[in-house]
Parts: sequence; structure tokens; C-alpha cells
Amino acid sequence: MKRKILINDGLSESGKKLLKNYDFEIFDQHIQQDKLIDFINTNSISAIIVRSATKVRKDIIDSCASLKLIARGGVGMDNIDVDYAKKNEIHVINTPQASSLSVAELVFAHLFSMARQLFHSNRTMPLEGDTNFKKLKKTYSHGIELRGKKIGIIGFGRIGQEVAKIALGIGMKVLFYDPHIEDKNICIEFYNGKEICFKLTKSKLSDLLKKIDILTIHVPNQKKPLISKDEIEQMKEEIIIINTSRGGIVNERELLKALNNKKVKFAGIDVFENEPKPSMSILMHDQISLSPHIGASTEEAQERIGIELANQINIILNG
Ligand code: NAD
Repeated sequence: MKRKILINDGLSESGKKLLKNYDFEIFDQHIQQDKLIDFINTNSISAIIVRSATKVRKDIIDSCASLKLIARGGVGMDNIDVDYAKKNEIHVINTPQASSLSVAELVFAHLFSMARQLFHSNRTMPLEGDTNFKKLKKTYSHGIELRGKKIGIIGFGRIGQEVAKIALGIGMKVLFYDPHIEDKNICIEFYNGKEICFKLTKSKLSDLLKKIDILTIHVPNQKKPLISKDEIEQMKEEIIIINTSRGGIVNERELLKALNNKKVKFAGIDVFENEPKPSMSILMHDQISLSPHIGASTEEAQERIGIELANQINIILNG
């Protein structure tokens, strides 16, 4: 009999095709959280594939004897009781590498957009572009270039290092802070096979905060905000802050205060304290460039995630 896999939060077409080729039967549908146990047991599901939306907690692990594998398409596993699953001999896998470049590119999508206030002009041009063109031209004529600016990267793992590559490539100066990394060789590969490497050495956090023009954060979930009142106070006037890591890593209340008193010039935010219902003060703020937690959501990253998960599931369940 074919082993059955529930794809609860979607998977790329290539991932699904590969799973079928490996002779799995797939259920590609979203089952509501409170109906999951029933569905898994009724259909003898061997593996469940989730992103961040579905929670796979102790209740499911305890109640579903057929479940042998939990797969997370992406990085963070906050939605899965990983240790408890492993204790119960359930495999837990994810795809930590697959989306790093996509998140890093989103950092720069926000950054370029803020440098020239595009995120803002895209809100006002449809309303006033035909009646107030000259006024808008004046408003948006104070952009900045990124070349030569200092970017501080807190958290220098997979995504932090991809951000560094892009930053170096466009002529920015890169400072990083990470408690677990002293120095790192960052190599930028070009289309013609050539590469240039830079050896970067860790800064003290307090030095980094004082020196940088732009801050971007790439750390795992923390118990308390990493960037709050004290840290913002140490930064230069008109700093730009980007958070694509996890909601709550930047204290939203303190960020709003600092935006209102212009200490922070702009913020680029992909992740929110209260997802999926972010605070209206953040959503309506006209110095914030917004995206709805889409860091990993590119065609390419989703392709890599689908293929990587299908291959891992095949190795684990089919041997
Ligand atoms: P990673 O594990 O490769 O790197 C994280 C780094 O942070 C590590 O090097 C670690 O030493 C460092 N770190 C931990 N605590 C720190 C602290 N207090 N101060 C400074 N550095 C600290 O992780 P990654 O793959 O680079 O992912 C980083 C974050 O991005 C995660 O929170 C992940 O959930 C998030 N993420 C977001 C999206 C999105 O859609 N926006 C997509 C993927 C990942």
C-alpha cells in the first residue's frame, strides 16, 4: 500500500510531482487545525508537510500513531514541538538553506524602496500624481544612494551572510555582530565563474550600533526584543531599520516612538508582533515599508523547498 502524505500548507508543483514519482499518495488540501487529528487517523497519514501556519504540537503527536515524519518547508520550527516529536521517534525535517537568498533580496527590495521613498510614492502617485505632480516631485527628491553606506547585520548565519554578499556587491561597508561567529570569509560569485572574497570580522554590538546607517536583523526567535529603547538610543540619527527575521525582535512600540521623533528615518518590516493581525499603528505609518511575511516566498525558493523536502521524505520513509 502507498504511504500517504498530507500537504497542509501547500508545496511547489515540482515537489508534489517528485513525491508521486517516489510512489507516495498525496493529499494536497488544507485541513483546519481542529480537524487534523481526525483526518490523519482516518487516512493513516505517514507524513505531514507544513509551513508556518499549521501547528504540530503534542496533541497531534500523542494522538496520531501513523505519523512518522513532520516536514517544515522553510526555516523556523516554532510551530512544531520538535523535541517531543523526536522523543516519540517521529522524524522532523526542514529546509533551512533554501530561502536564504530570497530573504536577503527582500531586505534590499525594502532598502532600495526606502532609499528613494518608492514605497511612499507608490501610495500617493495614484491619488495625486495627475493633480499634484510638481509637489510630489519635490517631496520625493531627497533620496539617498546606498553605495558607501554602512550596513550593520545582527545575526550572521545563512541569511545574514547572503545580505552581506549583496551589500558588498553594491559597494556598502558591512559590519556584523553574532555571538557565535568571530570572522567569516564572504565570497561573491559572479556569472562568469569568478569570485571575490572578503574576510569580515565581528564588531562589538555597541560599536556596530553607533557606526551604522542601516540595520538589518537575522536572528532566530528571542525571548525578548533585541532592538528596543536602549539599542535605538545608541544609533545615529535617521537610522534605517529592517526586520525580516521574526515579529517582536524589534520592539514595535519603541520603533513607533523612534519613527515619530525621526530618530529612525524609515523601517522595512516583513514580520510583525501580532501576526496575522499586525497593529494598525504599524500598518498605517507612513515611514514604514511593509510586506506580509513573504521573505521566503519566491518561485525559486519554493521550488528548492519542494524538491528538497520530497527527496528527504523519500530517503527517510522509503529508505
Ligand atoms: P541561522 O540559524 O543560519 O542564523 C542565525 C544567526 O543568528 C546564528 O549565526 C546565531 O548565532 C545568531 N544569533 C542568535 N542569537 C543572536 C543574538 N542574540 N544576537 C546576534 N546574533 C544571534 O538562521 P537564518 O536561516 O539566517 O534565519 C534567520 C532568521 O530569519 C530566523 O529567525 C528565521 O525565522 C527568519 N526567516 C524569516 C523569513 C521570512 O519570511 N521573513 C524566511 C526565512 C527565515
